[in-house]
Amino acid sequence: MIRIAVANQKGGVGKTTTAINLATALAATGLRVLLIDLDPQGNASTGLGIGQALRECSSYELLTGQATLEEVVVQTRVPRLDIVPAKVDLSGAEIELIDFERRTHRLDAALEAAETHRWDVCLIDCPPSLGLLTVNALIAAHSILVPLQAEFFALEGLSQLLQTVERVRQRFNPELSILGVALTMFDRRNNLSGLVHDDVRACLGDVVFKTVIPRNVRLSEAPSHGIPALIYDHRCPGSEAYIALARELMARLPRSKAEAA
Ligand code: ADP
Ligand code: MG
Repeated sequence: MIRIAVANQKGGVGKTTTAINLATALAATGLRVLLIDLDPQGNASTGLGIGQALRECSSYELLTGQATLEEVVVQTRVPRLDIVPAKVDLSGAEIELIDFERRTHRLDAALEAAETHRWDVCLIDCPPSLGLLTVNALIAAHSILVPLQAEFFALEGLSQLLQTVERVRQRFNPELSILGVALTMFDRRNNLSGLVHDDVRACLGDVVFKTVIPRNVRLSEAPSHGIPALIYDHRCPGSEAYIALARELMARLPRSKAEAA
């Protein structure tokens, strides 16, 4: 199972939208996908229609060792897509985990201890911070996908994120790679979006995915219906972009790992 952290410490840049729709697009190609909601806000869980009753056992219990992966996984309405939901208790985990042994490796250990052959790919939806939860995701992950909002200041904060990735790589997870940077909420009619787009590409080069996610109201409407945009309206520009992004992403996954998964 290839593990990909969807991370950026900025809020509202499209992490969760990307995690949900990319997971759905990957599942649509036949891959078996696990989405881990690691944000106490639980937006990925809500966006996939997982009500509070189904969050008794959540990523919080998984990280604190009160439950196994098997016990916290919930099936979604999307075929081949399962989720480990999040609930608000997870906000306490940043503090509570401080007292735990190997507090930075809780997620990695929980995944290592589990039977994960059921899935091909795992996406981890990170919270908007570089705290212990995100560090757990970066240590558990093989690679990181960074959604970047196409707006002024897009690159601000990126160096901090890349520094954190570098530190995690040096100290704990030498194989952690940057799978790609995805530009989100791109507005064709807005000159600034175009400028930011050129700037980001000039600065980061090929690590930026060719696919750009447009600003599309369908993407923001879908979560209130508890279904991915890809199911809500599979032909809207946002859905089409996530399908293209999934294709590009699959081409970047190392073959050997994809086969071993
Ligand atoms: P994050 O997880 O990084 O905080 P979200 O994915 O929750 O960001 O996105 C923030 C807000 O922007 C949400 O209301 C979401 O519905 C909306 N949104 C995200 N991507 C798009 C897009 N491409 N077009 C329009 N709205 C979007
Ligand atoms: Mg989010």
